[in-house]
Amino acid sequence: RNFKSSMECRWDIDRLNAPFLAIYESLIPPEEEKAKQKQLLTLLEKLVNKEWPEARLYLYGSCANSFGVCKSDIDVCLAIPDANIDKSEVILKLADILESDNLQDVQALTRARVPIVKLMDPATGISCDICINNVLAVVNTKLLRDYARIDVRLQQLAFIVKHWAKSRGVNETYQGTLSSYAYVLMCIHFLQQRRPAILPCLQEMEATYAVTVDNIECAYFDRVEKLCDFGSHNRETIAQLVWAFFHYWAYRHDYTNTVISVRAGSLLSKRTKDWTRRIGNDRHLICIEDPFDVSHDLGRVVDKFSIKVLREEFERAAEIMQYDLNPCVTLFEPYVA
Ligand code: ATP
Ligand code: MG
Repeated sequence: RNFKSSMECRWDIDRLNAPFLAIYESLIPPEEEKAKQKQLLTLLEKLVNKEWPEARLYLYGSCANSFGVCKSDIDVCLAIPDANIDKSEVILKLADILESDNLQDVQALTRARVPIVKLMDPATGISCDICINNVLAVVNTKLLRDYARIDVRLQQLAFIVKHWAKSRGVNETYQGTLSSYAYVLMCIHFLQQRRPAILPCLQEMEATYAVTVDNIECAYFDRVEKLCDFGSHNRETIAQLVWAFFHYWAYRHDYTNTVISVRAGSLLSKRTKDWTRRIGNDRHLICIEDPFDVSHDLGRVVDKFSIKVLREEFERAAEIMQYDLNPCVTLFEPYVA
C-alpha cells in the first residue's frame, strides 16, 4: 500500500510545477532594485576614489551571482592594488569617510574572519557590506553567474532551496549551518550529477578565462552562451528536481566518505583530500569543496549538533515532498524553536 501511494505521489509530482515556479518568480528582484544598487555603487565609488584613486569597487555575492532574491543586502569588494596595505586601517578609514557622508549604521568590523564595513544607505534603503581585496569572492561570483546562464533550472532550484533554508533557519553559518554560497554549490553539483546531466563541469573544459588570485589559479570555460542547449536532453521539471534534491541529501548522500566537488564535476573521497578526521575546528561532517580554494571545506562550520539539525531538515523536506498534500506551503513554514 505504501508503495502504491508513494507511486501515486511521484506520479503526480508535476502538479507542483506551477506553484514552485510562482514562488521562484515572486523571489526575482524587480528591475528598480538593480537600478538602486547601481546608484549606491556609483556613490560609493566617488567617495572611495577621493581617498584611493587607484581603487576599484566590485559587486560580489548574491547581488552579482544571479542567485539574489529580492530585498537582499549587497556585498561589495574594495580592490586596492597596493599589496602592503593594512586591511584594518583601510576599514577604519573607510568607515570614517562613509560616516561623514551621512551613510547610516556604519560599523567597522575589523576583527571578523573577513573584516568588513557595514552600512545602510538612506537614499535607497539598501544595506551593504564592504570587504577589502577579497578578489577570490569576485571570481567565484563570476563562476556561479556563468553556471546560471546555462540552464534556468539551476536558478529555479537554488531560489527554492535558499528560500527553504532561510525559512527553516538553516542558513546561519554562525549557528553551524550552511551559507547561501554552499547551498548554491550543492545545487550546481546536483545538476552536474543528473543523467543526462543538466550542467557541465566548466573547470574540466578548455579554459577560456584564467586569473591567478592569492596564488590560486582560477581557470574555466566561460563562453557559456555556447552551452545554452547543454541540458536539453534532460526533461526533468523543477518539481521533480526539488523532490530529488531533498531525497538525495536526506537518504542517498554518503556523509561518511564523500566530498561534493563542483570543480571535478563529481564526488571525491574524503580520504584523498585527507578530510577524514577533525583538525582544529574543521570536523568535515558534510564536505563541500570550494571550486577554487580546494583546501577549503564550506561544511567546516558544521558541528556535531548542527549536522543533526541539517539532516533532520533534509529529511523533513524529503518527507513533505513525498507525502504532504501542500508541499509548496509546508516546506517553507518558519521553524519555531
Ligand atoms: P545571500 O542572498 O544569503 O546574501 P550570498 O550569495 O550573498 O547570499 P553569502 O553567503 O552572503 O551569499 O556570501 C557572499 C559571497 O561571499 C559568496 O557569493 C561567495 O562569493 C563569498 N563567500 C561566502 N562564503 C564563503 C566562503 N566560506 N568561502 C569563500 N567564499 C565565500
Ligand atoms: Mg550576501
